[in-house]
Amino acid sequence: MLFDPRPKSRREEVFDRDIEFEGLEESVRTYPITLLLGIRRVGKSSILRAYLNNKPSILVDCRELYGEKGHIAREDLIDELQKKGSLLSKLLSKFKAELDLKFLKLEPKDATLREILHELNEVGEKLGQPFILAFDEAQYLRFYGSRGGKELLALLAYAYDSLSNVRVIMTGSEVGLLHDFIGFEDYKSPLYGRLMGEVYIKPFDRETSMEFLRTGFNEIGVEISEGEIEKAVDLLDGIPGWLVTFGLEYSKVKDLEKALKRTLRVAKGLILGELKELEKRSIRYSLILQAIALGYNRWSLIRDYLAVKGHRTPEPRLHELLKNLKKMGWIEEKNRKYSLTDPVVVAVLKMEKG
Ligand code: ADP
Ligand code: MG
Repeated sequence: MLFDPRPKSRREEVFDRDIEFEGLEESVRTYPITLLLGIRRVGKSSILRAYLNNKPSILVDCRELYGEKGHIAREDLIDELQKKGSLLSKLLSKFKAELDLKFLKLEPKDATLREILHELNEVGEKLGQPFILAFDEAQYLRFYGSRGGKELLALLAYAYDSLSNVRVIMTGSEVGLLHDFIGFEDYKSPLYGRLMGEVYIKPFDRETSMEFLRTGFNEIGVEISEGEIEKAVDLLDGIPGWLVTFGLEYSKVKDLEKALKRTLRVAKGLILGELKELEKRSIRYSLILQAIALGYNRWSLIRDYLAVKGHRTPEPRLHELLKNLKKMGWIEEKNRKYSLTDPVVVAVLKMEKG
């Protein structure tokens, strides 16, 4: 069902995106490491899961591992790989008993990540196709261990150079942070100088967004006019996650105004949660986003807005905050004008004010 709010996990469930799947296919064929990039709710996890479906692979959700603890412990990552690995080896041995896979034979307490990678490589070799190790929201891996994830990067560099039957895919909604973490342009990074594939997932264009809604409503037998679909897309734009929320809400209330309001309410819950995370680092992040949502989109206007709100901010600090918001994918800058990347965030922040 198109309007299922969870990430999709099979190709047939994913609307459109042929070009992105092809790009991913091609990139994994070409590069040991592929980055799958795009803003929140654009469909990265769905595309990744659908792609991995029926391929020898392990998917690690880094945000989940990071979770409440606020860091990723070595033991937890190993545990996760072991768990998923042994599940997988059961599945594989069912279908490919003749392969005699002694897959992930190591006891968790003995295993090192390097040994696990070697085993994955061996499995890939035996199967005659690369084993894919995927990290969803990989920017969180910078919280692995005590050195900003450097040990893990060193290991990935080792796999990049030496394990020809392993492929790595990393997704990132915080594209700039992921680039910082991987640091392929930073000679101090273990992955320095290694070419990687990059596949960008963009929001749907207008026509595709409308077709997405038409198809979704058609599927569940809910009638809605073209005019209403158009109005919904006017507000929500092409981010599939929001289109799904709208689809669900409209099918409940069958009223455009009410459905849009409810969609924004749901969005508000999610977005305020994310803002709270940001505010843990600085209250100014939220204020900057609010300023931009309200149309104070130039550097000096943002500075003045912060001052009016009682948070006078020195110039270098403001530059740094704006740079971070760009890296985290919240804002874009064009011709010295800032804008929010997600129109629904604009709507929610305006609501906040009103
Ligand atoms: P991301 O990982 O980029 O944050 P998700 O894959 O979790 O995005 O997608 C967000 C929501 O949108 C989910 O409900 C998912 O089912 C839906 N979705 C995203 N892209 C598509 C698509 N191409 N077809 C159908 N549903 C999609
Ligand atoms: Mg995701």
